[in-house]
Amino acid sequence: MSELWTGGCLCGAMRYEFQGDPPYSGYCHCNMCKRATGGAFAVLVQARRGHLKWTKGQPSEFRSSPIATRGFCPECGTPLYLQYDDDELIRLTAGSLDHPEGIRPAGHYGVESRLAWADNGPDLPEEETKEQF
Ligand SMILES: [Zn+2]
Ligand SMILES: [Zn+2]
Repeated sequence: MSELWTGGCLCGAMRYEFQGDPPYSGYCHCNMCKRATGGAFAVLVQARRGHLKWTKGQPSEFRSSPIATRGFCPECGTPLYLQYDDDELIRLTAGSLDHPEGIRPAGHYGVESRLAWADNGPDLPEEETKEQF
């Protein structure tokens, strides 16, 4: 069942939507996601780049590594996405969704940087990051 997913930043200057089945989502424990979100880990939700529409505003981008950029609201700073170069998927921050309760993280990435107390989502598949901070 294809649903309409909507989201945006804290101040409301950025709004987005995309159509899709409940998208794949996962935890990322890498050190770049810690910095970029200001949290202990990121929860990222995959959408097809071609399906994502910015219905309000245009995020600013920061090149966070040689292979990826991160989008954020230029007004309030809310982290909105991680985009790998030449990837048809874009990874939106779960907390920017209007209804994050509709997704369910299915795996852990960057587990080599996982904090011992970030012990949520037990028994999910784990993968190490290929990129080092
Ligand atoms: Zn904003
Ligand atoms: Zn990460």
